[in-house]
Amino acid sequence: MNMKYTPKEITEEVNVTPTHPLVNLGYLAGTVVVSLVAIYAAMGVAVDLVVPRLSRSTEIKIGDSLLPVAQDQFGGNVLADDTRVDYLESLAQPLIREELSDLPITIHLMDTEIANAAIIAGGHVFVTTGLLEESRSENELVFILGHELGHLANRDSLKSLGRSLFLLLGSLALGIGTQNGQSSPLLNTTLDFQSLHYSREQETQADRYGMILTIEQYGHGGYALDFFERHSAHEPSFIPEYVLTHPLSENRIEALELFAAENNWSLTGDLVPLPEGIECPNFDCGNE
Ligand SMILES: [Zn+2]
Repeated sequence: MNMKYTPKEITEEVNVTPTHPLVNLGYLAGTVVVSLVAIYAAMGVAVDLVVPRLSRSTEIKIGDSLLPVAQDQFGGNVLADDTRVDYLESLAQPLIREELSDLPITIHLMDTEIANAAIIAGGHVFVTTGLLEESRSENELVFILGHELGHLANRDSLKSLGRSLFLLLGSLALGIGTQNGQSSPLLNTTLDFQSLHYSREQETQADRYGMILTIEQYGHGGYALDFFERHSAHEPSFIPEYVLTHPLSENRIEALELFAAENNWSLTGDLVPLPEGIECPNFDCGNE
């Protein structure tokens, strides 16, 4: 075999095409644009494929980096030391089923008049003081918490992030998700919780989950839906979801009644009263 080294046989012309450089540039730009559009479209589809595969630890990191952003956008101060937080945690704890037992469930009591509740990835539950003021029984609160836990179990909050999920995963990888508990300006401008929302199907599944937990807790669904019956229509507020943003329409209440009937669950039973002073900080309404 001839091992003679003959590099000169490859001529410089190999890499030079006869086409005008600007035409090539046009093709290149076109290819880049088409690729970006394809990637953007693929990311939208990929969310539903990626979300179920995310590890719990990644979910928790995403939730922690979203927390300051969500609190900013939710409005109102966080009442961290209020003993009503302990009460809400004691309500939520028995509702945590096997599939969520590896997530820390943290209640954030937000001091705002608007009755609202929400959940974000990683088990951060938001409850407003307005919701506590407007609640008339523990049964109602248990259903609302159960509904939110349903969104968590179904990873709806992660799915609702859409393409922002990839931004978050990228920023986590680069370590720019959060800075000392402050929301990063990048996330704050990119993630608009007001524009996120759940589908009707996601709401239906969360409703059913909430109903199942309510039945497991009390053995009946009595009083659980009263909150929604009192608030059949309301002004919209920010974070998606939340009770008043998506009030249970008559259709949804009827669907739940049907769901209960199919399962032979009773929708009547005892009302469990709320603790005295639920509307006041630390249950302390003073002596007036
Ligand atoms: Zn919901």
